[in-house]
Amino acid sequence: MSAEFDLIARYFTRPAPDGMLGVGDDCALLSTTPGMQLAVSADLLVENRHFFPDVAPDALGHKSLAVNLSDLAAMGARPLGCVLSLSLPRVDHDWLTAFSGAFHALAEQAGCPLVGGDTVRSADGITIGVTVMGQVAPDQALRRAGAKAGDDIWVSGELGAADVALRLLQGRLAPDAALLAQTRQALEWPQPQLALGQALAGLAHAAIDISDGLAQDLGHILAASHCGAELHVDSLPIAPALLGLPVDVQYDAALSGGDVYQLCFTAAAVDADAVMACAKRAGVRVTRVGRIVPAAGLRILDAAGACLSLRQQGFDHFS
Ligand code: ADP
Ligand code: MG
Repeated sequence: MSAEFDLIARYFTRPAPDGMLGVGDDCALLSTTPGMQLAVSADLLVENRHFFPDVAPDALGHKSLAVNLSDLAAMGARPLGCVLSLSLPRVDHDWLTAFSGAFHALAEQAGCPLVGGDTVRSADGITIGVTVMGQVAPDQALRRAGAKAGDDIWVSGELGAADVALRLLQGRLAPDAALLAQTRQALEWPQPQLALGQALAGLAHAAIDISDGLAQDLGHILAASHCGAELHVDSLPIAPALLGLPVDVQYDAALSGGDVYQLCFTAAAVDADAVMACAKRAGVRVTRVGRIVPAAGLRILDAAGACLSLRQQGFDHFS
C-alpha cells in the first residue's frame, strides 16, 4: 500500500453511516430526503494566513470543520456529510492523530461524517480545504436577503473573546496570560450553532454566521436585503472575560472582531418570544442587539443614542 493510501486508511477512513458510501470509492454517495435542497459550502484554511504554524493540531482539526458547519448553521441546514482536502509538506503521525481525532469528534457530534477528500504533498505549509453538505427545506433556508424593516437583530452567544485572543497572540494587545487563558478557547474551539440555525429555519428572516466581525457580516445581510440597521452597543453580549478592558477595546472586539462563529439573524419583532423559545431548545443564549430600518447604512448607537464610528473594519483578505 502506498504511503498516501496508508495515511488515508489510518486517519481519514471511518465506517460511513447506513445508506451512505464513504471513503474508498471514486465518489461518496449521500442520501438526501426527497424535496429538500442540498446546502453546500467550502472553506480553505491556509497556514500563516488562517492559523499559526504552531497551533495545536487538535484545535486545528476541530476548527477546520467548525467554520464550515457554521455556514450550514447560518443557512438553517442539517449536516449530511463533509469532504476534506489536505496538502501537507510531510507526514507527521502525531500531528495527523491529533488533527484527525478532533475532526472526527466534531463530525460525529454534529452528525456530519467525513465521506471523502483528497490528500497531496505540498512544497511547504499546510492547506486544509473542507466542504460540507447539508439539507434544508427550500422555503426555510435562512438566506441573507430576507431582512425586513422593523425586524429585530439578534446575536447568539457572546462576542469579542476570539478577537482579544488573536490580538494577544499577535502582540497587538499587551501580554496578559490570564486574559489569554480566558479567551483562547473561543478562538481555537468555536462551537457551530447548528441546533439554533435549524430551530430558526422558517422563523428568522435572514441569517449569517459571524466570521469577519458583526458589523461587516451584518453589512452583508443589509446589502442583500436592501435595508439598513441600528445597533445598540450597550446591548451587545460582550464576553465577560473582556470586562476589564477599556470600553472602546470591548466595543471594537465585539463589533469588528472575527472568528466568532455565532449567528447574527433577524426576525419579526412579534416573533421575539418564538426566537427565545428556539434558543432555549438549542441551549444557547440569544441577545437582541438592534433593529432593521428602511434607510441604507449601519448606525451604531451608544446608550444615549449618539452615533459611534467603527475604528477597525472587519477582516478583509484583499485590502
Ligand atoms: P481519486 O484518485 O479518485 O482522487 P484518491 O486516491 O485521492 O481518489 O482517494 C481515495 C479515497 O480516499 C477516495 O474515496 C477519497 O475520497 C478518499 N480520501 C482521500 N483523501 C482523503 C481525506 N483527506 N479525507 C477523507 N477521505 C479522503
Ligand atoms: Mg485524489
